Amino acid sequence: MNPDAGSDVTLTEQVVCRQCFQTASITLGYGDVNGALRSWESFFCPHCRLTWESDDIGFLQPEPRTRMLEAHGEWTVRIGGRKVGV
Ligand SMILES: [Zn+2]
Repeated sequence: MNPDAGSDVTLTEQVVCRQCFQTASITLGYGDVNGALRSWESFFCPHCRLTWESDDIGFLQPEPRTRMLEAHGEWTVRIGGRKVGV
C-alpha cells in the first residue's frame, strides 16, 4: 500500500478471458472525482484484445466492495486541506 498513490484505490486481478479463455486482467478502481465517489472496472485481455470498462457513481456494489476490502482492508477517509489558524 502506498499512501502517496493519490486518492484512487485500485486493485488488479488475473481473470480468465470469456472470449479466448486465456489469462487477462481486470482492474477495479475506486476514488474521488470532483467530490463524488466513483468506481470503475477495466478489463483487458492481451491475447485477443478484448476490452471493456464500466463506471458507477456512489458506493461500491457489494461484490466489488468485498474484493476491495479483502485487498485493502477498511479505510478511513480524511478530508484534505489544513485548518486555517485564527
Ligand atoms: Zn481474450
